[in-house]
Amino acid sequence: MKKYYTEQWSEDCQFSIAYEEKLHSEASPFQQIDFYKGEEFGTFFTLDGLMMVNEKDEFVYHDMITHPAFATNPNIKKVLIIGGGDGGTAREVLRYKSVEKVVMVEIDELVFRLSQKYLPITAAGVEEDSRMEMIFDDGLAYVQNAPDASFDLILVDSTDPISVGEGLFTTAFYQECHRVLSAEGILINQHESPYFAEYAENMRKAHTKIKKIFDIAKVYQFHMPTYPSGHWLFGFASKKFDPIQNVQAEAWSNFGLHTKYYNTDLHVGAFMLPTFVKEKLARE
Ligand code: SAM
Repeated sequence: MKKYYTEQWSEDCQFSIAYEEKLHSEASPFQQIDFYKGEEFGTFFTLDGLMMVNEKDEFVYHDMITHPAFATNPNIKKVLIIGGGDGGTAREVLRYKSVEKVVMVEIDELVFRLSQKYLPITAAGVEEDSRMEMIFDDGLAYVQNAPDASFDLILVDSTDPISVGEGLFTTAFYQECHRVLSAEGILINQHESPYFAEYAENMRKAHTKIKKIFDIAKVYQFHMPTYPSGHWLFGFASKKFDPIQNVQAEAWSNFGLHTKYYNTDLHVGAFMLPTFVKEKLARE
């Protein structure tokens, strides 16, 4: 008999993955952390019973949270990552040799330490990079105390708007991000999924708040097999750049990065949303 990790995607829909071994289970002061080893998705971990990262599809998420911003503004030098405790987002950002400084603010150090042990695919080498500063603290508190215009890019690689992640979906947080970003600044953050009602409501609320604060606020999509419905979204907000009109395909290809999911054709397509998503986003 196979053992299954099962996650509730909506009241009537569950998602299950077979696993061979439970590698670690521990309640940190912030959340329940569980690491599993399976065949189809390799090693994966969950926080409070929700899939975070697995070896098979992490490249989709980490490509899409990182590269659209760099293809829109290839001059990004200072990057703030909020959350991202598995290290995958930092790994992708550090591939840009032009980046001078990366600050990662993760509330739960245990997520990072366990990822170093069990998920080297995302965490290995991140802490050792001399451009990296790791802070284990609340991301909302960090931005409240950060100087004006101190970052070119903020990537919010957070959990859902429940528990410790809740503050990262508030107007107060988005306003602080706007203040902390330079005149060319870009904010990328979770917009959840348009499919199941609860997630779609989170998407709508995030977009409604951000478009009141940033001159440019767009939403883009990608296929994430292990996140609810497999259809996942990020928000792109900026003081200056429109991610479609300002995409710099040649400048981005000059970075010489091989990416398994992202490319600059897909970049433009990702911002072309299905009608039902547009309609939900347009509701106040
Ligand atoms: N890719 C994942 C997803 O969408 O499910 C997110 C992965 S990453 C592990 C999310 C991280 O955000 C977690 O490690 C969690 O501890 C961190 N986090 C949640 N709320 C936070 C906060 N207020 N400040 C800093 N980090 C936070």
